[in-house]
Order: sequence, then structure tokens, then C-alpha cells
Amino acid sequence: MALRMSTLFLRTLRENPADAELPGHQLLVRAGYVRRVAPGIYTWLPLGMKVLNKVESIIREEMDRIGSQEVRFPALLPREPYEATGRWTEYGDSLFRLKDRKDADMMLGPTHEEMFCLAVKDMYSSYKDLPLSLYQVQNKYRDEARPRAGILRGREFIMKDSYSFDIDQAGLQKAYDAHREAYIRIFNRLGFEYVIVHADSGAMGGSASEEFLAVNENGEDTFVRDEHGYAANVEAVVVPQAAPVEVTAGAAHVEDTPDTPTIETLVAALNRDHARTDGREWTGADTLKNVLVVLVHPDGTREPLAIGLPGDREVDAKRLEVKVAPAEVEPFEEKDFAAYPMLAKGYIGPGVLGSEQSSTIRYLLDPSIAEGSAWVTGADEHGKHVIDLVHGRDFTADGTIQAGEIRAGDVSPDGTGTLKLARGIEMGHIFQLGTKYAEALGLKVLDENGKLVTVTMGSYGVGVTRAVGVIAEDNNDQYGLIWPREIAPADVHVVVASKDESVFVRAEEIVRGLEAQDVEVLYDDRPKVSPGVKFKDAELIGVPTILVIGKGLADGKVEIKDRRSGERREVPVDEAVAQLV
Ligand code: ATP
Ligand code: MG
Ligand code: MG
Ligand code: MG
Repeated sequence: MALRMSTLFLRTLRENPADAELPGHQLLVRAGYVRRVAPGIYTWLPLGMKVLNKVESIIREEMDRIGSQEVRFPALLPREPYEATGRWTEYGDSLFRLKDRKDADMMLGPTHEEMFCLAVKDMYSSYKDLPLSLYQVQNKYRDEARPRAGILRGREFIMKDSYSFDIDQAGLQKAYDAHREAYIRIFNRLGFEYVIVHADSGAMGGSASEEFLAVNENGEDTFVRDEHGYAANVEAVVVPQAAPVEVTAGAAHVEDTPDTPTIETLVAALNRDHARTDGREWTGADTLKNVLVVLVHPDGTREPLAIGLPGDREVDAKRLEVKVAPAEVEPFEEKDFAAYPMLAKGYIGPGVLGSEQSSTIRYLLDPSIAEGSAWVTGADEHGKHVIDLVHGRDFTADGTIQAGEIRAGDVSPDGTGTLKLARGIEMGHIFQLGTKYAEALGLKVLDENGKLVTVTMGSYGVGVTRAVGVIAEDNNDQYGLIWPREIAPADVHVVVASKDESVFVRAEEIVRGLEAQDVEVLYDDRPKVSPGVKFKDAELIGVPTILVIGKGLADGKVEIKDRRSGERREVPVDEAVAQLV
């Protein structure tokens, strides 16, 4: 049935909403697709639902095509499964936590690895049950530190998330590849420019994680690409330095430790006790980017102080030893954080290896340090001001120190290309999780030989509401939105540009004719609204084809206008339907 403007729940706005900065966001609100309820929380109106449903059905078709089965888990979840994997705590302020009437801890799901893992554990027990791939299209909740740009970063948003379950790595690789193909088809159909980037350094073997980034200068992710097709999120790049600097591990005692040794003190110690293979001296600028310095406290606790520490910052601890210890870098566990009291004071603390970004070492940082630091690549949702330092890029465990900051013009990791920097918006993320969740939650099945083996998992996400936002950002002009046909709220916007009763009668016939041919119509049948206002609304709403039925009807003509090109042509009224099918 045609959507009729006379009854449609819609009120277009002439003014941009005060809180909207990006054009697509402004237009989605002005054209009546969404309405803000609170920061990062939006209502979807009838026009918005049309678009959203189309995006969802594209995603469902492509997920069904790879044999994934749709399910729906609750968004309101108990604490325990997330406690078991450590994420109740790890998620920090981003997690919406609540209590039920019996005072039990509950939460609103930010992502569902735990729940899927447990469901499979409940129902399956044998290798014969695998492989398995499940998906849902569902609301997610994350209390984002900076909800911005409307539906691009919501605190409630819709995600398609899927999870694969396999008996071995070969199976996981297959599931991952199938998802990769499905995502390529989804994003091609949604019609925006995107790049597939490495989302980790590959240190754990191959492309264990990739992101689909919509190319957009307002994006919050920075990626690099070269002329040969290499592309990576900067968080994941391993940039080789022309001559890698090697440092021998060993203790460099700062004998004359002042009460508050400064970075200069550390640099002096480095120059005294450690030669650089390139013959240069450490300087305040490069030293701490190239070396992992471990502060050894009097009580023996070791505190990695790294890399990117602003030079004017004093180290607030007495009687320290300084160790240049790249060779000793061990993967740190999040639970180790408690062992490092300086963290609380805002110094760079130990990293985490083995959480979601398994090959990325993450450092906690005070926001005042993060500001302006060369290493800031964007705080992530853990709210705790996490920045990404990358194992492999910034340092490696075997003592080879690699280059620091990525700059446009750097050579790409294989040494054959030149890197360019660009910005993007993360639209999808595919991830070989391995056994992390299955181990934490005890998901095991019997293999062919009757032995229990831990299931290996993949997780895959698409931002559904975010996709609508990105399409709106990519497809608009000064007059309004311009939807690609496959996801437009209607195929044709029929405008009656007359107040003459007989014109309405004819328009009604044409609308029925279009409907009979399965053309979706948005019909501006408002009897008392001027043609000028109707045209403005039509341009704002952005249906790809506009059919104007007005004065020309006296000569048997109607006008077809292409919203994107602005091109108009008159056609005989009897041919209108045929031309629009
Ligand atoms: P981002 O880096 O933008 O914060 P993410 O890496 O935290 O995203 P994932 O956990 O990988 O997101 O979730 C899968 C997908 O969900 C993302 O690729 C993105 O498209 C979408 N998404 C994540 N957070 C939001 C949000 N706050 N609002 C809308 N979509 C989101
Ligand atoms: Mg996030
Ligand atoms: Mg991300
Ligand atoms: Mg992600």
C-alpha cells in the first residue's frame, strides 16, 4: 500500500536540529526518519522504518545465503555469563547495568558471545552437530563516552551479530571466509564506498580480524592503505623501520635517583647503559617511543612505563631502577592491573593481551595524557581512556624495536608500497575468536575419537542502524537526502501539484497502476498543501524518482524527475506507469 502523505506520521522541519553536525544526520531528522529521545537514543519513524527494514532484509538474505540461522536472544541479560568471561568488569562504564526487584545484577547486552556460546553448550555435544552459524538482528546497548552523529554512534543501536562454531581452525577459517564474502555482498548492495582493513597486526597468524570501513572524512577510525591494495586500521599496522633499532636487555640503575626522576633521567640512563645499533644517542623525543621502560619499584613490582610518555611528565615514584627490557615484555593480563598502583595516578600502565583484540596490546592512560599524545588513535568504548599501542608495531617481544608513529608516505609493511592515511567509519567487523569464550564457559564437544575438544568460535558484526546513517551521509545534497533505490523508503514519490479534484482522481489511478506493478509509492495526496511545499518535501525525503502530476495533465502529460541528477522529462500520462516499472 502506498504511503500517503495526508496521513503519514511525519512532520518535516525546515531548520537543522541544533545538536546535529553531520549533513546526513541533520537530514534524517529534518526529513522525518528518526527523532532523538536522548543522546545516542533514537526513535524510528515510518519513513525510517521503511529504510531500516530494507537494510535488514539485505543483511538477512545474505546471512541466510551462507547458511547462518536467525535467532534472537534477549537484550536484558543476567550478570553471571559475563562475569565468567571477565567482561562484566572489562566493559567498564560502557555497560548498562541494572538490578531486578530481587536485587540481582542485570545488564543490557553490548554484544552476545557469551549467550550464543552458552546456548550451543546447552543443546549440542558432538562434533557431528558442527559446523554451526547463528545470527540475530537485535538491539545492543553501550553507554558510549561520546555518542555522536545521531545514529552513527548510538547508545541503543541495532547490530546484526553472528557467531560460528567449529571443531577446528580449518572450520573456523571456512566460516570466516563465508562471512567475509557475505559482508562484501551486503556492503556492495548497500552502495557505499568501503575498504576492508586488517584490524590486528596479524601477529597471531594471518587475518584473524578485519574491519569493513566506510570511507568518510568524518569517521572516527584512521586507516592506511597503499597502492597495491594493502589496507589496515592504524591500530593494526606494523610499519618496519629502515634500520630496526636493537637494544640489549639489562638493568640500568639510576643511581642518583632524584625524588621524582623525570623522563630526562630515564633518557640519560638509556644513553649510559645501552648502545643503539644505529649509533645515535637516545633523545627525549625518540627514546620512549622506541623502548619499553620498566620501572622496578623498591618492593620488586615491575611497571612497564612506555612509549609515548610526554617528555615533561614527571615519574612520581621514589628510588626506582630503570630497566630497558624489551626482551622481557610478557603479555599482560587485565587482572594484573591491580598490581600497578601508578595506574590509578594516571600513568601509562600495563597492557592487555588476550582480550578481544588478541594481538593488540592496550594501554590504559589518563585522559589528560591521552590528549595530544602521538599515540592516541581514539579512545574506545571501554571508557577508561584506552588507547591502542600495537604489539609488533611499537615493540616486539623478541627485543626488536620497531618504528613508532605512522605517517603518510611511510612504506607499507611488505616494503613495496607507500602508505596514505584516511578516515573511515567501522561498518562491520569479522573476527576469529578462537577458543577464548568456549574455554571460559566450558563449550566442549566430543570429537571423532570420543575425546572432548573445545569448540572454536568466530564473531561477526554489522552496524545496521549505523549503516542507515552512513548511507545518509554519503547520499545527499543541499536540498535533502537521495536514497539509492534498493533501500529507499519508496520507489516513486508521486506529487499532485494541483488543487483540482480531477487531477487527484487521475493521480489515484496512476498510484494504483504503480502498485499493481509492485512499485512502492509515497503519495503526496495532501489536498491543501501548495506545490512548492510538496516539491521541497519530496527533495528533502529523497525518494529516487519523483512523478509530478499537475498542470501538464490538461495536455495529457506528467513529469518524471530524477532526484539525483535533477533531470526532468515529460511523458504521456498513459505511459507513466510503464516508464516507472
Ligand atoms: P567502534 O570502533 O565504532 O566503536 P566497535 O569496534 O566497538 O565499533 P564492534 O564491537 O566490532 O564495534 O561491533 C560490530 C559493529 O557494530 C561495528 O562494526 C559497528 O558497525 C557497529 N557499532 C558498534 N558500536 C556502535 C554504536 N555505538 N552505534 C551504532 N553502531 C555501532
Ligand atoms: Mg566501540
Ligand atoms: Mg572498532
Ligand atoms: Mg569492532
